[in-house]
Amino acid sequence: MCIFCKIARGEERAYVIYEGEKVVAFLDINPLSKGHTLIVPKDHYENYIEIPLDVSMEIHDAIKRVCEKLKIFNPAGFNIVANVGRKAGQVIMHAHVHVIPRYDREESRPIEFGKSIEVDLDEVYRELTC
Ligand code: 5GP
Ligand code: ZN
Repeated sequence: MCIFCKIARGEERAYVIYEGEKVVAFLDINPLSKGHTLIVPKDHYENYIEIPLDVSMEIHDAIKRVCEKLKIFNPAGFNIVANVGRKAGQVIMHAHVHVIPRYDREESRPIEFGKSIEVDLDEVYRELTC
């Protein structure tokens, strides 16, 4: 059983800050900022896009609740991120969403999209809509 399944079942320790019927939210063990939280479905799905819609809805509800809760730290904003697949930086193969509060006062590690690529948007659009 994977580590997040164990956390969801209460078989592995974690700082759980919110629990719903199908989801649980707990502090990331290696936080990028104060309050960095992971929201996961209790059932095992490999990544975010594998999550069924009813569970996604609860995840979304949990994101909003967690952001509200984290406001006690007075963040200037949040990054809400799901890494899907190893190439995208997914390390734990149990679906999860990162909620990362961002602060004016501290130098938190920026999440950068980097340099844009050269691409013909007409062509991309055609390929996606044909
Ligand atoms: P990923 O790169 O897969 O999107 O992110 C996985 C996240 O899970 C990382 O930020 C990592 O710090 C966190 N993580 C990995 N193992 C554990 C653990 O055992 N407990 C908690 N709370 N977080 C973990
Ligand atoms: Zn799992």
